Amino acid sequence: MQRVSHWVDGRAVDGTSGRQGPIWNPATGEQQGVVDLGSVAEVDAAVAVAARTFPEWRATSLARRSEVMFRMRELIDANRKEIASLLTAEHGKVMSDALGEVARGLENVEFACGIPHLMKGGFSEQASGGVDVYSIRQPLGVVAGITPFNFPAMVPMWMFANALACGNTFVLKPSEKDPSASMFLADLLKQAGLPDGCFNVVNGDKVAVDRLLEHPDIAAVSFVGSTPIARYIYETGTRNGKRVQALGGAKNHMLVLPDADLDMAADAAVSAAYGSAGERCMAVSVVLAVDSVADALIDKLTQRIPGIRVGPGSEPDVEMGPLISREHRDKVAGYLADAAGEGATVVVDGRDDAPEGGFFLKPSLIDHVAPGMRCYDEEIFGPVLSVVRVGSYAEGLTMINDNPYGNGTALFTRDGGVARQFQFDVNVGMVGINVPIPVPVSYYSFGGWKASLFGDSHMYGPDGVNFYTRGKVVTSRWPDPATSKVDLGFPQTR
Ligand code: NAD
Repeated sequence: MQRVSHWVDGRAVDGTSGRQGPIWNPATGEQQGVVDLGSVAEVDAAVAVAARTFPEWRATSLARRSEVMFRMRELIDANRKEIASLLTAEHGKVMSDALGEVARGLENVEFACGIPHLMKGGFSEQASGGVDVYSIRQPLGVVAGITPFNFPAMVPMWMFANALACGNTFVLKPSEKDPSASMFLADLLKQAGLPDGCFNVVNGDKVAVDRLLEHPDIAAVSFVGSTPIARYIYETGTRNGKRVQALGGAKNHMLVLPDADLDMAADAAVSAAYGSAGERCMAVSVVLAVDSVADALIDKLTQRIPGIRVGPGSEPDVEMGPLISREHRDKVAGYLADAAGEGATVVVDGRDDAPEGGFFLKPSLIDHVAPGMRCYDEEIFGPVLSVVRVGSYAEGLTMINDNPYGNGTALFTRDGGVARQFQFDVNVGMVGINVPIPVPVSYYSFGGWKASLFGDSHMYGPDGVNFYTRGKVVTSRWPDPATSKVDLGFPQTR
């Protein structure tokens, strides 16, 4: 059986904790491997290597750091299929989706290639007589990344590309459910010319996470995962004096107005709800349908669902794979079991005829959903789309703004004025106008509002560069003996 260990100081090292977790094949339901779960001592060893490497890496020229990113870009490009296959094997997502994940992760490496430009400071000549002022940004030191199961390649790339390009060294703790992509990326970084020790992977669970959160040599923590854990990471990390960005869960609403192209809206909702089996933090999980078009929209959604091909992600024509684990599949099925009792209508029940063997559930549609029902109030993170009927645009907007999450949202309309008002009023971090999954391109930054993000900094893009650096301002004067005198007054600029 395959064994996934750790990556420290430029090579794979076997775990010594004696603890291991299972790696499942979600398409068959069988265990395909084990992952070593790191101990406190193993985390300490990885952090020590990263700390030792930091002075040399931060002193490496911008051009050289950029060159490593350019090479990494080429290596990921050349290995798209290999990385995607690892994602399909351990996460279960279909190949086309896995290739999309690699492509969107790669964007972040491409962004980091521009690090010499991104780290430019400002310069003010003659701020005072003979005095110049300039600002610089410097890396933080050893930074940690803790990542979720649903994007095992892209989310690590959101973090390490900018962190390394800025001159930090890195310790990654991937999801223990699908750890192989991180190990593969670590090897590519080595091939790209990143010095050994700059990037390390410690696989593990809460033990490893907690040690990273308290380790005195970890300067900053980037986290992506569920809201309860994000809150815990933020509170614990900041209490220990670390800079923390912790992205949490979501409940993304798509508001469909009567003037929208309903076929386009139905295509978008089905794609965004069931892609990756709904295991995306930007998945559409609630459609808010304005009453006058609700019946027509539900008809269109219902017509599209039976055509979705569900099966093992490695099969060429399959569009939706299994869920990540049996436990999670059963949890998602539980929302369908409860929905009718809470007053909702299960229009399409994905428990019927689901493929056998793996952790499968077919796409499901629930109508007449309302706040207060479990399927509305909780993040389901599976292929379940809820429809809430609303009387008006205003009622839909209020519902979105009242929701505790604020990751993504989408509005479908042909009315530009309403769309502009929506982006102005909505309390959500990422907004799509006739775009159902508005994941920002890598030269913007990714982040939700409210319970979808703890901390001040969004992830990747310009916010990423800011997060992984700190500012320094230098005020300088070159000695001019003619003007030197003792002056105990506070320095003034005029
Ligand atoms: P999770 O919170 O269970 O795990 C995330 C990471 O935290 C993993 O590395 C895991 O090992 C670790 N972890 C889990 N429990 C822990 C504990 N008690 N103490 C310390 N560490 C712990 O999330 P997941 O199930 O892997 O991923 C799915 C969740 O991630 C969903 O809620 C989804 O919305 C969210 N997500 C959010 C974004 C975003 O950008 N906002 C992106 C992807 C996923």
